[in-house]
Amino acid sequence: MSLYETVNIPQLNITYEQPLGLFINNEFVKSSDGKKIESINPSTEESIVSFFAASEKDVNSAVTAARDAFENNWSKTSGEQRGILLSKLFDLIERDKLLLAAIETLDSGKPYHSNSLADLEQILQLTRYYAGGADKFTGGEYIPLNQDKYAYTMKVPYGVVAQIVPWNYPLAMASWKIQSCLAAGNTIVIKPAENTSLSLLYFAQLVKEAGFPPGVLNILPGYGSVTGTAMASHTDIDKIAFTGSTAVGQKVMSLAAQSNLKAVTLECGGKSPCLIFADANLDEAIPWVAGGIFYNSGQNCTANSRIYVHEDIYEEFLTKFEEYAKSNWKFGAKFDPFDKDCTLGPVISKVQYDRIQSYVEHGKASEKLGFKEFAEYPSKGYFIPPTIFSDVPNSSKLSQEEIFGPVGVVASFSTYEEAIKLANDSSYGLASCVFSENARTTAQFARDIRAGTVWINSSNDEEISVPFGGFKMSGIGRELGRNGVDSYLQTKAVHVNIAKL
Ligand code: NAD
Repeated sequence: MSLYETVNIPQLNITYEQPLGLFINNEFVKSSDGKKIESINPSTEESIVSFFAASEKDVNSAVTAARDAFENNWSKTSGEQRGILLSKLFDLIERDKLLLAAIETLDSGKPYHSNSLADLEQILQLTRYYAGGADKFTGGEYIPLNQDKYAYTMKVPYGVVAQIVPWNYPLAMASWKIQSCLAAGNTIVIKPAENTSLSLLYFAQLVKEAGFPPGVLNILPGYGSVTGTAMASHTDIDKIAFTGSTAVGQKVMSLAAQSNLKAVTLECGGKSPCLIFADANLDEAIPWVAGGIFYNSGQNCTANSRIYVHEDIYEEFLTKFEEYAKSNWKFGAKFDPFDKDCTLGPVISKVQYDRIQSYVEHGKASEKLGFKEFAEYPSKGYFIPPTIFSDVPNSSKLSQEEIFGPVGVVASFSTYEEAIKLANDSSYGLASCVFSENARTTAQFARDIRAGTVWINSSNDEEISVPFGGFKMSGIGRELGRNGVDSYLQTKAVHVNIAKL
């Protein structure tokens, strides 16, 4: 059982060596029980490689490595030193970005030109941001009390942090967590999703090459029920940061509470509303709204999957939206995500494909199908066309549950009050967007919506310097921006008494 396998990507004329091991102490190793997971290309349904899956014993080894690295080395580094290492990592990601994007497309099916390369640009941007932030975002505060007393706060890293990420943006979601956590001075044990571990394993090599000491970043591919559970319940992990579904987020939080009360941040699911008022510029709004539900095949936690349109422009919106979607969101002639004309790739797996189809079947039986049409289907691959249901009541499961595919629901409203009530009628509160030319309407929406992100006249337009996270069952805590570092720091209060008796 080798620790590397040669992989060919003929579309880009690329051949590379894919690491297959767990990454502990800067080395790839086999899992203690030899178990492996097969990675499937979702556009062809063919096997790419099999990689090792971490057991509970392997989690213990990785945590020991991370603890030793923290105690003996990493906790003694300055922010400047950590920033220099992150800058070196930036250079290496930039050097290998085309290969990293290619691995992402091979493993997750996301279109190479429109998605994977964009993911890599964001990863570069945030690596540069946190390289610069390592010595700037970590300071505390001076609090004057009286003539003889003052206090100050120190921001100190937690120590060993566990991170669990999903498959929709494999390397990007990992990078949202890793770069800010390292900048803050923690060591890491991270688990990629079982169906998209390849890009992070390749990335491990860049971390070593950049000069990060052994044990600072440990990568454990594996199953959620085995590796993830062992991480969430480990008693020598100080904090766990999770991105994924709300249901699993609840389990992680519960295991964290029952084991050692480790700190928890959760980035979970969403069912984000999009309000389009009668005075909106529809020609500008439609590309944003279509991108907000069809980009990445709808596998976005912030997807604007509930679209509410003012009754005066409802029919016009539906007609224009359908025309736009059909000419801009396409599988491409060869159903190949490496092709330039593919803007809509397959969904990640057979499990997700079946899950999304079950919502579509439910909708076809009970709701009004707006559109779902494509000239031809491939014989292989988990491709689902852009699908819209119209006139959908908010009580429908299509409006309440996260479908996580290119399936949106549209309904009309007549007043602002009705619209905001519909928008807030959800257990989720991750993101939202509003389209209107009236500044008062959009400002009222920003005030009234219960969501962590509000986009005014745009959608799903994340910026790495802006905090991101959810209200309600969409999560706890914030990532990105200065908050990205702050969420990996604890506050220590120091009281100083200089009184002389
Ligand atoms: P998931 O919850 O099934 O899996 C996420 C991760 O958790 C995976 O690595 C998985 O292996 C692991 N996991 C599964 N069971 C576990 C357990 N019992 N204990 C510990 N870990 C376990 O989610 P997914 O299907 O991979 O991703 C889709 C979900 O992620 C959607 O709900 C989406 O909204 C959400 N998401 C949220 C954000 C955000 O920032 N809010 C970003 C991306 C995705």
